[in-house]
Amino acid sequence: MRVFKFGGASVRNAQAVKNLFKILEAGGSNPLIVIVSAMGKTTNALEELLAAKISGDGKILEKLQAISSTHLEITSHLFPQSHPAHKQVNALLNNLKALALEKVIFPYDREYDRLVCFGEHLSSIIIHHYLLFCGMDNVLADAHQLIKTDDRYRRARVDTEQTGFLIRSMVKTTPPQSLILSQGFIGSTDQGYPTTLGREGSDYTAALFAHALDAQEVVTWKDVEGIYNADPNVFPNACPIPHVSFRETIELAYYGAKIIHPKTIKPLQNKDIPLKVKSFLNPKATGSIINRDTSQDGQSGSYIIKPHQVLVSLLSKDYDFINEHRLSWLISKFAAYGIRVNLMQNSAITFTACVDHNEEKIATLILELEDSFYIRYNEGVHLLTIRHYSEDLIRELTRSKSILAEQRNRTTVQYVMK
Ligand code: ASP
Ligand code: MG
Repeated sequence: MRVFKFGGASVRNAQAVKNLFKILEAGGSNPLIVIVSAMGKTTNALEELLAAKISGDGKILEKLQAISSTHLEITSHLFPQSHPAHKQVNALLNNLKALALEKVIFPYDREYDRLVCFGEHLSSIIIHHYLLFCGMDNVLADAHQLIKTDDRYRRARVDTEQTGFLIRSMVKTTPPQSLILSQGFIGSTDQGYPTTLGREGSDYTAALFAHALDAQEVVTWKDVEGIYNADPNVFPNACPIPHVSFRETIELAYYGAKIIHPKTIKPLQNKDIPLKVKSFLNPKATGSIINRDTSQDGQSGSYIIKPHQVLVSLLSKDYDFINEHRLSWLISKFAAYGIRVNLMQNSAITFTACVDHNEEKIATLILELEDSFYIRYNEGVHLLTIRHYSEDLIRELTRSKSILAEQRNRTTVQYVMK
């Protein structure tokens, strides 16, 4: 059993869908599971649609139109006029329209999951029909029925045991020669309410299928030739890494590298299932492989910039020590407000944390802490993380920056800088 995951860029238009078929035809020995994302930038477009619905700015129809025309255009390129795919795509678009025009009933995160999941439904129905049309037998399995989560909408936590059971049961009842197609990123609660797993969560879905089925490998098809030691869009001299360990990947993803969704690694590592990252534009190229072998990890430095950070510094007003009790109390406050801490430091009476910028959440936290602490914060900073650093690399990456905090251990150095 192998699991292929196709991200948004790999299914962004009719040509890309045809290319996906070619990749499956050439390399897909059955049984194969195929997980697909929403087409191109559809998830962003759905987020804009939701913004229009919530703000009531009168732009709903315009936003709907953009989503409809992309999908209808792809459908008309792929199928003859009389093909049943048209009817199904139209039906989904009508459901989306009805939902977009319905008044807002739920809190933002829940509305988000109800609406944004349409991206994956649209892409999977189109791909399902296209593969059939090309003579490739396949079954479309609804991820809402398989990926079971809690009700933390927009960042739902998966019940891996129940999910594993449901995936295995579905596979048992599917004819063995059929390819199984499903949607990434989406799931549902026990009551069947739609949830999502966090942006770029399709990688994680692929890993969940692989874990449930003891797959031999996962291949994620991207528009780059594998993993790089830095984001090639930001650092033109970034270089590809042919092999990297689970351990290294989870650290890089955690610090913000856009290689793979950070939750993807655990299910794969736990079952020792390798992950390949390959280019859909050049499927014959080897790409990168991620597995448990750590022998090549330190060979070159990798670095990541996490933008949109805030450095919050607290100074104890009454000179109470920041001891273990106070520290754990403080951290519980950050957790309670859902503020993600990316670096922290303490001294006798100060505590400093570099956190993701979320104005609203940080403001409520400050309100709660300002009786006991003098609080200062710097907005608009970013966090640079270098794994397997050298002094030369540090010099190059911090040149002409002003450094507000630094933290170093044997493998990793981090700078909060402006
Ligand atoms: N379509 C979702 C997103 O764009 C999930 C994914 O692509 O993995 O975030
Ligand atoms: Mg994507």
